[in-house]
Amino acid sequence: MNLELTEEQTAVRRLAADFTAREIAPHARDWDRAERVDPGIVRKLGDLGFLGLTLPEEYGGSGGDHLAYALVTEELGRGDSAVRGLVSVSLGLVAKTLAAWGDEEQKRAWLPRLTAGEALGCFGLTEPGTGSDAAALTTRAVRDGDDWVVDGGKMFITNGTVADVVLLFARTGGPGHKGISAFLIPTDTPGLTRRPIHGKLGLRGQATAELVLEGVRVPAAALLGPEGKGFSVAMSALAKGRMSVAAGCVGIAQAALDAALEYAGQREQFGAPIAGRQLVQELISDIAVDVDAARLLTWRVADLIDRGEPFATEASKAKLFASEAAVRAASNALQVFGGYGYIDEYPVGKLLRDARVMTLYEGTSQIQKLLIGRALTGVSAF
Ligand code: FAD
Repeated sequence: MNLELTEEQTAVRRLAADFTAREIAPHARDWDRAERVDPGIVRKLGDLGFLGLTLPEEYGGSGGDHLAYALVTEELGRGDSAVRGLVSVSLGLVAKTLAAWGDEEQKRAWLPRLTAGEALGCFGLTEPGTGSDAAALTTRAVRDGDDWVVDGGKMFITNGTVADVVLLFARTGGPGHKGISAFLIPTDTPGLTRRPIHGKLGLRGQATAELVLEGVRVPAAALLGPEGKGFSVAMSALAKGRMSVAAGCVGIAQAALDAALEYAGQREQFGAPIAGRQLVQELISDIAVDVDAARLLTWRVADLIDRGEPFATEASKAKLFASEAAVRAASNALQVFGGYGYIDEYPVGKLLRDARVMTLYEGTSQIQKLLIGRALTGVSAF
């Protein structure tokens, strides 16, 4: 793996860093308090090409490789995980999956709008009764003439209240993963109700929703990929999505390091800056090692994807490590801040709250360990 960035990768990283410093970071605390990011940010992300990374230009994509995508994701995550997550879902889970599995008509209908930031996507897999065991989902789609009629419910859906289209997974056959199909459903389809979920520990600026589907009628053309292949669609989306989550976690850890270094240099106790205290340096060096290790694991996944090599297990390792590292790094940074870290005037409390969900979604840490264990032993423990 070549660790030297190309000119293009360096340029897109700088663009994302400048944009984050100017348009995201200064507002992150207010958006967190208001439980809503400025909706105008979506169009700006689209204008810069950040919602079309890795996608072909003929569908409005901005091209670039997965390392460029990881670099942009890290910078956005450094500014505000709520914005980073919005991109990871609409581009990473929805648009990229549509590009991989969709037919020409579906791609033309949605990709130019999604990449421009004129529309947002959401990913509907989790249900109230099924999280880690996604293959047991119970939302059902039944064929009725040329249509499908969908009934059921989805839980914890990122972008849920603001998205224009949901990539929804429903049971069209028997039990287990072979009975699941994927559908692209406009969120204004009659029978689809969205209920906002409030009171989240972190990612407060991000719209999270419960979706209720009652007799939602969609044409046969709404099916994404072959009937019965929905679980493969979902798992392929999540494998790549884990790289994006890992990159966002690197951004959180880097922000924790930046904040801890700045504060430790200014804060004086016992007549000198706390940066000179050995135990404070231990906290800072632990954060720095977590940043580097998480970043290198993430870049390795990007490199494997770009070279067309198998990457799913490496993505699980990166997501597992980076998410746990982001929680550790933010907690260590909060320790450096002392009591001030506990108040949201300062950034580290939010970093910790935002980091905490990373070990839960797109496969919990336990599920990542089971995936890695299965790949290594050849035996599934779940
Ligand atoms: P459960 O599956 O009930 O797990 C509970 C605990 O049991 C966990 O610790 C888990 O690791 C453990 N566990 C479960 N099974 C095993 C096992 N076999 N062995 C060992 N331990 C096990 N979902 C979407 O579809 N789309 C989204 O956009 C989305 N966004 C989200 C945003 C937020 C803010 C949150 C909180 C969640 C989001 N999710 C989304 C859902 C998320 O992916 C699930 O919460 C996650 O998969 C875990 O499922 P669960 O919450 O039902 O926990």
